[in-house]
Amino acid sequence: MSKLPKACIIGAGCSGFSTAKALQDKGIPFDIFELSDTVGGNWAYGNKNGMSACYSSLHIDTSKYRMQFEDFPIPDDYPDFPHHAQVLDYFNSYLDHFGLREKVTFNTAVTHVDRMDDGTWKVTLDRSAAGGPSQDVDYYDVLFVCNGHHWSPRWPTPAFEGEFDGVQMHAHSYLSPFEPHDFRGKNIVVVGMGNSAMDIASELSQKPIAKSLWVAARRGVYVMPKYIGGQVADKASLPTWIPLWAQRKLAAMAIKRAVGNMEDYGLPKPDHAPLEGHPSVSGEFLTRVGCGDIRMKPNIERFEGNQVRFTDGSAEDVDIIVYATGYNVEFPFFDPDFLSAKDNHLPLFKRAIRPDLPNLFFMGLAQPLPTLINFAEQQAKWLAAYLVGEYALPDEAVMEAAILSDEKMYIGHFYESPRHKMQVDFNRYVNDLKKEWKKGAKRAKAAGNPLPILAKAASKEAA
Ligand SMILES: Cc1cc2nc3c(=O)[nH]c(=O)nc-3n(C[C@H](O)[C@H](O)[C@H](O)COP(=O)(O)OP(=O)(O)OC[C@H]3O[C@@H](n4cnc5c(N)ncnc54)[C@H](O)[C@@H]3O)c2cc1C
Repeated sequence: MSKLPKACIIGAGCSGFSTAKALQDKGIPFDIFELSDTVGGNWAYGNKNGMSACYSSLHIDTSKYRMQFEDFPIPDDYPDFPHHAQVLDYFNSYLDHFGLREKVTFNTAVTHVDRMDDGTWKVTLDRSAAGGPSQDVDYYDVLFVCNGHHWSPRWPTPAFEGEFDGVQMHAHSYLSPFEPHDFRGKNIVVVGMGNSAMDIASELSQKPIAKSLWVAARRGVYVMPKYIGGQVADKASLPTWIPLWAQRKLAAMAIKRAVGNMEDYGLPKPDHAPLEGHPSVSGEFLTRVGCGDIRMKPNIERFEGNQVRFTDGSAEDVDIIVYATGYNVEFPFFDPDFLSAKDNHLPLFKRAIRPDLPNLFFMGLAQPLPTLINFAEQQAKWLAAYLVGEYALPDEAVMEAAILSDEKMYIGHFYESPRHKMQVDFNRYVNDLKKEWKKGAKRAKAAGNPLPILAKAASKEAA
């Protein structure tokens, strides 16, 4: 029997399957459970799990150069910003290339997880969609949570006052100008100014579709282009030895040079400097505003039947409201008393580990700029090294201090919003992680490379 701990991976999106690859590389035994019949999570358009927020026209905002896995180059013939179907194809090739597909247990949901007194994880599974029992229990030594964080729609809270006679929907269920509603000839309000709001408003505001389209937002944001000077904008990255504050200043100057002042397009003036909030990315939105097809409104104040009244006192006849107001971070398989992310805030060492639970790992639970796709790949390599004794964690107090200083560095300068609780700069994060890994490798070596988590779960299953 292997002395290495046995791992459970929840979810086979890109965070889950890149974690599986790293464990496989180190010979760590694992099971990976996926509630759907496909890998790819969010990027599987029409995913039968109901959790994908993909719309028919969605192209990834991260360029192919930045989203590609370190271990598996993206096809040369892909466009700079692939369509969601190409992203999913790339994921599928990754699984097939590394022989991971047969390791995934499809149509199997992790419904509950309990931490046992000895630190092992009791995992309850619903295998009924695969023809198995609706309640089955397995035990694991370590748990990788890879359930994604863009599937539980966040609605404005509290809800706006008054009664609205039209349709209200969240961007999560938007598919196309014809599904789930026919948007042609309609008066539409899109609430929010994140990436989904930019895309959906730009698409629906085209003359053959909306009659009128307004974007309602509490505050202005900076809208970044996908290209600057003919080059893919996210490809240019500054060396990590330049302090983050200086990188931000330089990037802010580049954004100002590239797009100028938001108010010159008729957008609200942001109440923060560029990069003091998560920037939105769109190659179309500013032009559509400039063309007058998208008109701006402040936040909604109240509903009055078929009218929406805004906080500036204006009112419009509206048929459909699309809330592009973000997502809640949720772990439905944990008792909330045990663990939850209140207001989307879950402080973690290197965005992966709660210091008091060193055998529980959150993968891809971050808002990294410019990419989340290959983020867990980096975390997983580090954690696989940890599980085989090649890296040792610092003690709890050091981890707690690092969490505080990392949060200050990454989000201290942002305005308060649930959108900004997990922000990291991808390059800086990876650079810091490598430094921490080196330090931990020395700690592990000095202690004789002991396994940090012992294999206890297998004996429970046998019992
Ligand atoms: C509209 C939109 C556009 C985006 N654009 C970009 C972009 O341009 N660049 C970028 O980097 N990121 C983007 N993202 C972020 C996106 O979340 C990530 O790219 C990526 O999908 C995260 O992968 P994941 O594996 O962490 O989560 P997901 O892709 O959500 O996968 C989670 C998987 O876990 C499974 N699962 C969940 N719960 C259970 C359970 N209890 N039991 C078993 N399985 C379970 C799900 O079925 C799913 O397959 C975008 C997100 C949205 C919504």
